[in-house]
Amino acid sequence: MNAVNAVRPLKDILDVMHDKSPQSIELVEHAYEFSKNAHEPHKRFSGEPYFSHVAEVGYLLAEIGIDAEAIAAGLLHDTVEDAGVQSETIREKFGNEVLQLVDGVTKLGKLRYQGVERHTESLRKLFAATAKDIRVLIIKLMDRLHNTRTLEHVPDETKRTRIAKETLEIYAPIADRLGMSVLKNHLEDAAFPHAMPIEYEKTRELLRERKKETDKRLEKTEKDVKRALAEAGIRIFRTEARIKGVYSLFKKLGRREWDISKIYDILALRVIFPTVADCYSALGIIHGQWRPVPGKIKDYIAFPKPNGYQSIHTTVYTGDGGALEIQLRSESQHREAQYGIASHLLYKERQITKEGSRHGIGLDWIRQFFPHFGEAQGGVDAIPKEGVPDWVQQLAHDETKESGEYLDTLKSDFFSHRVFVFTPRGDVIDLPASATPIDFAYAIHSGVGNKMSGACVNGKLVSLETELRNGDIVEIITKQSAKPSRKWYDIAKTNMAKKHIRAALAAGKK
Ligand code: MN
Repeated sequence: MNAVNAVRPLKDILDVMHDKSPQSIELVEHAYEFSKNAHEPHKRFSGEPYFSHVAEVGYLLAEIGIDAEAIAAGLLHDTVEDAGVQSETIREKFGNEVLQLVDGVTKLGKLRYQGVERHTESLRKLFAATAKDIRVLIIKLMDRLHNTRTLEHVPDETKRTRIAKETLEIYAPIADRLGMSVLKNHLEDAAFPHAMPIEYEKTRELLRERKKETDKRLEKTEKDVKRALAEAGIRIFRTEARIKGVYSLFKKLGRREWDISKIYDILALRVIFPTVADCYSALGIIHGQWRPVPGKIKDYIAFPKPNGYQSIHTTVYTGDGGALEIQLRSESQHREAQYGIASHLLYKERQITKEGSRHGIGLDWIRQFFPHFGEAQGGVDAIPKEGVPDWVQQLAHDETKESGEYLDTLKSDFFSHRVFVFTPRGDVIDLPASATPIDFAYAIHSGVGNKMSGACVNGKLVSLETELRNGDIVEIITKQSAKPSRKWYDIAKTNMAKKHIRAALAAGKK
């Protein structure tokens, strides 16, 4: 949007909304006007009306196809915190559901908490609200996206850097864990130049140098793949180019000694089919024509990533001395890969699955990716909250920690670089990088952890200090007489394992 048309008009929002029922349109119109009035006197750092921010958040929400209540809450999300509107007024005018959403994204009062503590306690509150309704987190992510995109207007450099880093360390990883890859990339690429300006310039320069060659390769391969598929009788599909985000390229460069020639997926060719069976047929046709790069074939359809991502990836030699990544997926996998959990909050799906659950997400769906969802939560809130992944529940119920420790757990257990390992039955367990069999055992169940006497990785007995790697198959050997030791406590990497070991040690002393 340009400066002349700085405020997103209501019409744009209504145009992209999926749910066009009269009640929904009325709710969003009403919220738009109310919020516009409430924020009337306020301006952003950019000099734009404050309302431009919330209107944009409303638009971003409408665009991903979320329901009218969430769009309305997005439009109203700063009215209580920044425009002095009473919660009661929101309830009267928009109902309890909208108020709950607005309340969930509202930060804690400035009087009770300050600085880092206010920030951390607000995050804790956010997760508690999210545990009741996943839409709270999605609204917060869109709020953060727009704030990050407009960071250039924030005059204080320290504040700018802090917000950008937080986006990279906390909010983008949340989007990733929710499977919202488009949003994750947008968050990262908006924050990167402010968080690490020098690295950003360097990466962008490398990307620019490299792009011409890759563009040409993509174009030629796309044509050849289309022809090869058509000749084999596969006619219904579409292709698109996937460009790697600048920040995501930066992270990969860090793992490859900054050698860009070792990175094959700056540009990838995506081919989208009506069915999964088409994807496997196409893989056969493609490998019959182009030699695949060994070790680069990844079947995330048979083994989805823990966030639900499904596609087949292969990298093939293109005959010009280079190679190109090709991604194959079905239409529904494509939609889910882009919008993740939000693709299940769509109005249409809500209608279809109304019987099943409140927000259109069934327990079966969520358990595909989070096998232990809803189990072993304990306490008053033990009732499963459908649609909310179990890591959100864990964060919401983690009330024992000091602010600083809470933030550390957030960064180390939940959002650091993850490894994906398998149980002998093929269930995926995701753990932070450098996790050990002890962390694995406790991630399965505290009862398994507490009775562990040894561990096998890929069929071989290993020491409990072994760092697990992506794709390892881990089997825990238990013995009735086994019990946790002080040493385990030092070896364990996740706070979750440490917590259980500490409890078991304390119980043992009694
Ligand atoms: Mn806001």
